[in-house]
Amino acid sequence: MRRKGILIVISGFSGAGKGTLIKRLTAEYDGYALSVSATTRQPRPGEEDGREYFFLQKEQFEQKIKENGLIEYACYCDNYYGTPRDYVESRLAEGRDVILEIEIQGARKIKEQYSDALLLFVMPPSAAELRHRLVGRGTESGEVIEKRMKRAAGEAEGIEEYEYIVVNDDLETCVRQLHEIITAAHNTPQRNREFIENIRTELEGEK
Ligand code: 5GP
Repeated sequence: MRRKGILIVISGFSGAGKGTLIKRLTAEYDGYALSVSATTRQPRPGEEDGREYFFLQKEQFEQKIKENGLIEYACYCDNYYGTPRDYVESRLAEGRDVILEIEIQGARKIKEQYSDALLLFVMPPSAAELRHRLVGRGTESGEVIEKRMKRAAGEAEGIEEYEYIVVNDDLETCVRQLHEIITAAHNTPQRNREFIENIRTELEGEK
């Protein structure tokens, strides 16, 4: 049975620790491919073009939209963010599990187009801890932190649209949990339709 790649969407409030989690997941386990998004926001110190994001001007981003080069995009806190199409489709075709770290509007658009996508939401242990992490990161101004906390309150309304939540309290536990959920998702009947149909056809001969 050929294992098909799953499109995995990982969302979570800004500051929930998605980035660190995903870095650990892809470092500790084989088979994952991480999609690099395009954005119009400014790079943070230490971020590199093509590694964390493809940093684009607004006009370049709008050109990508026009060319149908993005499978989804959204506006988040005054900037565009979007998922380049080519990378995702070619990795899925190779049977890799592709990870998208995107916010909720994007997650919805992905589920509409890829009904087998697995939607996961990373939660902080508490709202106070979320603020603490955002402040501790030291990369955002007070104004941006307030915007992101407000945005989190809005996003919290949509959590039930996801299939699983994972609480990022202890990093190692959370990474292991994520991998276990993904491993289990490979075994749902919906994601193995072809295999099931083949067995059914073979069993027809036994009747
Ligand atoms: P940040 O500016 O903190 O890197 O990202 C802000 C938000 O944009 C995060 O919630 C992140 O998951 C989301 N994001 C990053 N890339 C994409 C993308 O390609 N599409 C969408 N819809 N959201 C994205």
